[in-house]
Amino acid sequence: MRIGIDLDGTLADLASAWRAIDERLFGPRGTASVATQDERDADEAATPTTGATRLAGERAEQRRRLEVWRAIRSTPDFWTTLEPLEPGVVRRLHTVALERRWEVFFLTQRPATAGDTVQRQTQRWLVAQGFDQPSVLTLTGSRGAAAAALYLDVLVDDLPRNCLDVVAESRCRPFLVLPKPDEATAASARRLDVTVVSSVGEAIDRLQEPEAVGGRTRSRRPVLSLAALFGRGGE
Ligand SMILES: [Mg+2]
Repeated sequence: MRIGIDLDGTLADLASAWRAIDERLFGPRGTASVATQDERDADEAATPTTGATRLAGERAEQRRRLEVWRAIRSTPDFWTTLEPLEPGVVRRLHTVALERRWEVFFLTQRPATAGDTVQRQTQRWLVAQGFDQPSVLTLTGSRGAAAAALYLDVLVDDLPRNCLDVVAESRCRPFLVLPKPDEATAASARRLDVTVVSSVGEAIDRLQEPEAVGGRTRSRRPVLSLAALFGRGGE
C-alpha cells in the first residue's frame, strides 16, 4: 500500500505556532475582552458596521496575516520547530509501515524559510518524531495530480479540498482527519467517498483493517457528485 500523508494540520501543529507569532507581533486577540459581550453588542448597535469599516477590518486582518508569514519566512528552520498534533503518532506510523510494508510519502506545500530547504527541515522534523529516512515531497500543484502521479492508494489530509481533489483526479482513497466534530463536513465528505476519521491514529487503525487494501472501485460517481457540488449537475 502506498500512503501519502499531509504535514500541517495533520501531523504538525502549525496553528499553535501561528497563534504564538501573531500574539508576539500584535498582542493577544480580542484585547477588548475587558468589556463584556453585552457591552460590545451595545456598542455595535450604537455604531453599525458600514461596508467601509468592514473592508478596513479585512485589510487589517490581511496585513496581519502577511506579517505573520513574513516572520515565519525569516525564522531559520521554522519547520523543524513545530509540535506534533498527536504525540507519538509519527513513530507509530513508522512502526506499522515497516510491519505492513507500506510505502509512505509525506506531502507538503510549505513555503520556504531561512535556513535549510523545506524538504530537509521537514525530514529532520520527521526523524526527530521517530520516522527514519522519510520521503518528503514538496508540491506546488494539486494533491489530486500528485496522488495520481505517485499511484497513491491512500491520502491522509486535514483539508476537505485536498480530499476532493484526490477523489476527482485519481483512484486514491482519501482519509479526512476532522479532530473536532463537524457533522455537516463529515456528511458531505462521506457522500463523496471520503473516509472521515477523528485522528491520524484512527486512520492508521482503519488502514490495518482487511477491507482497507486496494484503491477506490467506484471512480466515476464521485466525479459526477463533485460536478453537482459545483452546480454542474446532470453532466
Ligand atoms: Mg494540512
